[in-house]
Amino acid sequence: MALPLVAIVGRPNVGKSTLFNRLVGRRTAIVDDVPGVTRDRIVATTDWNGRVFQIVDTGGLVPDTHEPLEREIAHQVEAAIGAADAILFVLDARAEITAVDEDIARRLRPESRKVLLLANKLERPGDAAQAAELHALGLGDPLPVSALQGLGTGDLLDRLVELLPPGDDGEPSAAIRIAVLGKPNVGKSSFVNRLLGEERVIVSPEAGTTRDSVDTRLLWQGREILLIDTAGLRKSAPRESGIEYYTYLRTLAALERSDVSVILLDGTEPLSRQDLRVLNLVAERGKGLVVGVNKWDLVEAETGTAEAYARAFCEAAPSLAFAPLVFLSALTGRRVEKALETALEVGETRRRRIPTAEVNRVLGELVRRTPPPSHRGRAVRLLYANQVSVEPPTFVLFTNDPEGIAESYRRFVERGMREAWGFAGVPLRFIYRADAGRRAARAGR
Ligand code: GDP
Ligand code: GDP
Repeated sequence: MALPLVAIVGRPNVGKSTLFNRLVGRRTAIVDDVPGVTRDRIVATTDWNGRVFQIVDTGGLVPDTHEPLEREIAHQVEAAIGAADAILFVLDARAEITAVDEDIARRLRPESRKVLLLANKLERPGDAAQAAELHALGLGDPLPVSALQGLGTGDLLDRLVELLPPGDDGEPSAAIRIAVLGKPNVGKSSFVNRLLGEERVIVSPEAGTTRDSVDTRLLWQGREILLIDTAGLRKSAPRESGIEYYTYLRTLAALERSDVSVILLDGTEPLSRQDLRVLNLVAERGKGLVVGVNKWDLVEAETGTAEAYARAFCEAAPSLAFAPLVFLSALTGRRVEKALETALEVGETRRRRIPTAEVNRVLGELVRRTPPPSHRGRAVRLLYANQVSVEPPTFVLFTNDPEGIAESYRRFVERGMREAWGFAGVPLRFIYRADAGRRAARAGR
């Protein structure tokens, strides 16, 4: 079973992201110079009283559309209705009810069983009275909360978990979680069918006819694998045009729970923006990445086609050159198992730890070969480094001047470390940090 999904909806500025952070907790955030780590974090897994669930801030769902705000919010709400098991509808109880609030309420009313109405920003004594007028929205009793101060969130969570479907939360940590992602019609259902070795998933050439997503546990070569499959999202997608948001939301949710993603591309087509967005998302989330170039049976079997594809891929997405490409056909089954095997290897690699002495040996060689360019007339030094965590492997590099390390030099360091250790399919994080000892010395202490 997939983890239950909870969506936070509401117009801008009512406190959705504040509530998200409050419910998820900020304990694991890395705030250093890692792009995309804290920013744009809109899906997280959390738990309350032993119930594990995922939570999404739909205010952060921004596929590249240029629509009026009302349309965009409407799509976010549609996505939430289509994908979520429970919906937290946030209102600013200190402000008047707006037309947008009313629109959202109207759309949510038929789904009221799974909606909790939250009267937010109620932290001052006497504020509670203001929540009363929200009854008019026809979604039952509003729950007074203050996302900012954490007031009422315990009650909120108690009510919330009651709305969640019963499920087995036990995703044993031994199983490696592999998500199969890719745009519609790329062959996800066919790929999963092949792996499961039976026609459990209905495959059809028509869009919108596959079943909804499920997780499948399988034992393969003695390894336990949890296959998180997003095929078939379209069937239960909202009738309206919120489909893109919906797919995006489910993709994010699947990705968040995975260790490694197999992104399927259509080998007969050039890489699209939609493909690139999902690929980059995987890298940003620090998940393992395997690229499955599917429908390869349709590509002419000339020597060098695969090499040409790989070159074009690296040109289109230079920052993803670390991803292994597997040329496969879900239709014939060719190299489908190879993709799975590669995903397992990537999962292992993502847990790899490089000893500190080795990190510094390689760093020392790189710096000797090409020292960092000076910054504002001052020498920039890389002093020492270590690997501070795994999944994804994260390295901290100490320097006299974190700001002074140019982007091109950061790429040089990453390239050099990958040359030394491989890390195929694994995004690496590098945090450049000021060396405290030197800073103190410079300050004359
Ligand atoms: P979003 O656009 O719905 O995600 O709203 P934000 O979470 O960004 O919050 C909008 C503004 O409302 C920010 O300035 C928050 O600090 C503020 N805010 C959020 N929750 C509360 C609350 O419970 N009480 C008060 N007083 N302000 C809040
Ligand atoms: P999904 O939407 O990503 O789940 O894609 P499907 O698995 O439903 O596949 C969409 C269409 O592509 C179906 O008609 C499949 O038969 C076809 N297809 C999938 N994989 C391959 C492949 O490797 N080769 C060829 N020729 N067709 C494929």
